[in-house]
Amino acid sequence: MENLPLKGKVAFVTGAASKRGIGHSVVLRLARDGADIVAVSRSMVSKSLFPGDEDWEGLKSVVKEVESLGRRAIAVEAHVEDYNEVNAAVEKAVEELGKIDILVNCAGIRGPVNEPIIDFNEKDWYDVFRVNVLGAFNVSKAVARQMIKQGGGGKIVHIVSLAAKVPTPGSAIYNSSKAAQLMMVKILALELAPYNIDVYAVNPGAIATNFRDEYFERLSREKGVPTEKLREEEWKKVASQIPKGRLGRPEEVAELVSFLVSEKAEYLTGAVIDITGGIIA
Ligand code: NAD
Repeated sequence: MENLPLKGKVAFVTGAASKRGIGHSVVLRLARDGADIVAVSRSMVSKSLFPGDEDWEGLKSVVKEVESLGRRAIAVEAHVEDYNEVNAAVEKAVEELGKIDILVNCAGIRGPVNEPIIDFNEKDWYDVFRVNVLGAFNVSKAVARQMIKQGGGGKIVHIVSLAAKVPTPGSAIYNSSKAAQLMMVKILALELAPYNIDVYAVNPGAIATNFRDEYFERLSREKGVPTEKLREEEWKKVASQIPKGRLGRPEEVAELVSFLVSEKAEYLTGAVIDITGGIIA
């Protein structure tokens, strides 16, 4: 008889489509913990620029993996910045899997990497804030309403960022969006405590994912240097600034999420947890 901590639970995970993303790792971890999965992303397909990832089929692959672990899974396309799409995803989840017990919001975008405020571009600002801030509000609202309706409490984790706390020159748009998301999460924890819905913020430092794929692709075109080479150089530089001497792995973030959504973490609600390889120390 399996004695899994999340057996019988349903987890709704946004930003789940990229092969090396935090969302994908969270999905696999929670499925191994026993949860059925609603895998949400802006599109079914999400290409990865890493060599060897050419066969990756985004949400379709995610569903196959979860099913091979013996759990149920559905894939839903929804842009988090569109409340109607998010709400429709929640309705589909309830229709097909009966309820939502856990939300992990991983959807997010990086936006421009080296853009000083004196040159900031309004379109970039709206693009990033729409996804990272409005998206976080939308997903929280739609899922929390469903959890309240169910009446059995719940667990919500937002993947925010160390960028919410630490200023980085050239990254004002992303960092400000994450700071806004962090404050929203703290208030959400206070508002949902009476419903026994526990809310957490997880702040990763630098994690080796597909997050900067678009940036490396653009740089590669501009410089005529292969994407892989640029990524290696950049990650080596970043790793040298991290006390642990390496970037984090998405599985390490997923491990923390697995603990937070388990019954073990209940009295931690409202906690903001940094996972940075020592940067924040
Ligand atoms: P990723 O690019 O690998 O994954 C992001 C996922 O979000 C993708 O599946 C993408 O399709 C989805 N997505 C993007 N825009 C969306 C939208 N509008 N609607 C729905 N889905 C959308 O990146 P990741 O590193 O796994 O990032 C996950 C989260 O972690 C993000 O919120 C990011 O800000 C945060 N984070 C990442 C790092 C890092 O170093 N990778 C560090 C700190 C925080």
